[in-house]
Amino acid sequence: MLQQTQVKTALPYFKNFLLHLPSLESLSRSNERKVLKLWEGLGYYRRARNLLATSKILVKEHKSKLPKKITDIKKLPGIGDYTANALLAFIYNQPTIAIDGNVKRVFSRITNKSENEINFNKLIETNKKNLFKTKRNSDFVEALMEFGALICKPKKPECLKCNIKSTCGYFKSDKKFKQIKKTQSKEKNYNIFCYIDKYKNKIALTKKHNLGFLNKFYLPPIKETTFKNKIKNWNFHSNFKNSISNKKLNVNLYYRFSTKLPLQSQWFSLKGNNEFIPSFTKKIFKQILNIYL
Ligand code: SF4
Repeated sequence: MLQQTQVKTALPYFKNFLLHLPSLESLSRSNERKVLKLWEGLGYYRRARNLLATSKILVKEHKSKLPKKITDIKKLPGIGDYTANALLAFIYNQPTIAIDGNVKRVFSRITNKSENEINFNKLIETNKKNLFKTKRNSDFVEALMEFGALICKPKKPECLKCNIKSTCGYFKSDKKFKQIKKTQSKEKNYNIFCYIDKYKNKIALTKKHNLGFLNKFYLPPIKETTFKNKIKNWNFHSNFKNSISNKKLNVNLYYRFSTKLPLQSQWFSLKGNNEFIPSFTKKIFKQILNIYL
């Protein structure tokens, strides 16, 4: 839950999740509909699906335990290098480092080299003896992340408060390396078409769309477009911008009243559903509802 989500946002979700699914076994016996409903509002829904799939594999194939080899952990759905190393350190106290953006920045500052110039795995391997003097590897990994987030911060590092400034290349150097700015993903334009049954307060949603990052989720029919405001037989409702995962969307919202269901769609109530509905779709509901109010 904490990947891309702040602690204060994730906490109530976490408590509620554990209330309904308190153990690995109960999670593994659950289903996608229930897990997505508990995750509703957190975004990045692939995480929830992967969590469910992983719980089933762990219970079935690993006697409800996390494997100890990195190669086995990385076979679990959604687990890459970073998460696998974090798990090995946190759960099994293994001498390894999870390299996230914070940790990369700390190492690149200490060596006063840009992140592109550093082979992080090699750097850690070479310095293993110096880095892992402790039996508390899990704390060390956590501390590195926190150090990057609180002291060696992206914009203004707190060098004067820093305990390792005497060995830090960045602090000592007159020629400080410059951090590379991350390239922002380009905004794309979409037209969204809402078929509304105004007698029943329903809207047609479909899973058949090619919005890969909301794959398998219910949305009104949506099409990528070169941007035009007028489309024959459709009422233009509004234009809004939205970010989903790391994608930026510029949306033109259209509606039409209809009691005929479009192909490959289902009717959904505009005022509450038992089915999981992603936040993006709920935002559209909210906008569409103000046609009536
Ligand atoms: S001295 Fe400054 S740049 Fe170097 S590690 Fe400490 S906080 Fe980061």
